[in-house]
This record gives sequence, structure tokens and C-alpha cells, in this order.
Amino acid sequence: MNTRKKIIAGNWKMNKTVSEAKAFVHALLKELGDYSAADIVICPPFTALQAVSELLDHSSHVRLGAQNLYPASHGPYTGEISPWMLREFYCHYVIVGHSERRIHLGESDEFINKKVKAALAASLHPILCIGEALEERQRGIWKEKIGSQLELDLMAIEEKQVVDCIIAYEPIWAIGTGKNATSEQAQEVHFFIREQLTKLFSDQIAQKIRIQYGGSVTPHNAQELLACPDIDGLLIGGASLDVLSFSSIILNK
Ligand code: PGA
Repeated sequence: MNTRKKIIAGNWKMNKTVSEAKAFVHALLKELGDYSAADIVICPPFTALQAVSELLDHSSHVRLGAQNLYPASHGPYTGEISPWMLREFYCHYVIVGHSERRIHLGESDEFINKKVKAALAASLHPILCIGEALEERQRGIWKEKIGSQLELDLMAIEEKQVVDCIIAYEPIWAIGTGKNATSEQAQEVHFFIREQLTKLFSDQIAQKIRIQYGGSVTPHNAQELLACPDIDGLLIGGASLDVLSFSSIILNK
């Protein structure tokens, strides 16, 4: 039995206005009451961070996360947001390396590694997303893909810092498709990720790092995934946009 606390995060992507975000948070806090069995994170778009931050009690177990950052403290980076700007809103987490950004915005592992380091330097917990494409799974090369992402994205990060990272295994073929990985498939990959973390760092570190699953998580498949020994939480897109489905996943009802 491991001692890793589960972590369930909602990635709203490019959804919700400020007023929709506020209504969601009011309703979520009411649904959750004094729940504290897992760490809960919501990642609104940048435009709603301040409003959501004001509604969350900063000592509460529902934490704020951002969906991206730029790896510099300030400067001529039009349209970008620095880790320190996120800290100003009491963000605790930041998603890094999501496949939508890797694919649509061409983010490389080298750039993602800089973001992971910038997040850690600002005491933010990076939620580092990794995962294979359908074609890579079909060709039987998912281990190579995931192994190389882990190695490159976590390059030159010290052991004492890497424990603050959350890894999110998100098979690209499962994101927003309604086709989730089965719990057996997900567990197999999570076990592999932990083995790689042992090789890159140490067994002690690998046992501490939390690994989330993401990709078409719903209230119907969440508990089976969470019951797997190496699945320490969930990163949820579509099903995190609705208070009832998000809270029913958290509360298991
Ligand atoms: P999904 O998205 O739950 O809508 O598949 C997950 C994610 O992209 O983080």
C-alpha cells in the first residue's frame, strides 16, 4: 500500500467565461463540503484565474492550477504569462507539455523541460503531460516514446525538486475521443513510468511521484482507473466542465 495522496485535476482548456467559472466554483465547493481525501485542482483559462482564486480559500484542499506558463520571469514575450504572475493568483499547479500544445503549437521536449524547471523554480507543481499517439501504440513503440519524453522533459532536474512534479499519462488517442485507455492498459503504462523514474532518479523518488491518468475520464470509468495500484489520480478535460460529473468522480457517487 503506497502513501501517495490521490490528486484529481480538472483541465478546462479554452472553456468558461469568468461568470461561468464563478458559478462552477460556488457549486463545486458546496458539493464537496469538507471533503479532503484527495487533492483537488482546477485549471481555468488565464482570464478566469483571478476570479477563481478569490473564491477558493487558499488554505483549502481545492487548489488553483494554470494551463501553461512561459519559462522566463518577465520580458518581451508578447502574449505569454510568467510563473511569478501565476503565483500572484495563488496558483499551486501548472499543466506543462499537454499534447494539444505539443501538436498545435509545436512545443518541443527541450522547451517543455525549460517550463518544468521554471515552474519548479517558482515553487509551482508542474503537471507534466506525456503520452503516445495512436500510431505509436499500434506500432508497439509506446515505451520508447514515453521513456524519451520522461528523460528529455525531466532532464537535469534534481531529485529533491522532481518529487514536486506530477506526471500525467495522457494517451493522445484517448483525449476527447470518448475512448479511454482500459484500466489494464493505463496501469501497465503507469508501472512503466514508475520504472523509468526509478532509473532516472531512484526507487525512493519514483515511489513518491504521483502519476495521473488522463483521456476520456468519466464518472463511469473513473473509479476503476483510480483503483489501479500505480494510478494516483486523474487529469480530466470534458467531464471536469460539469460540476455534477466532476464532483461525482471526486466523491465516488
Ligand atoms: P478529456 O481531456 O478528459 O476531455 O479526454 C483530458 C485532457 O486533455 O487533459
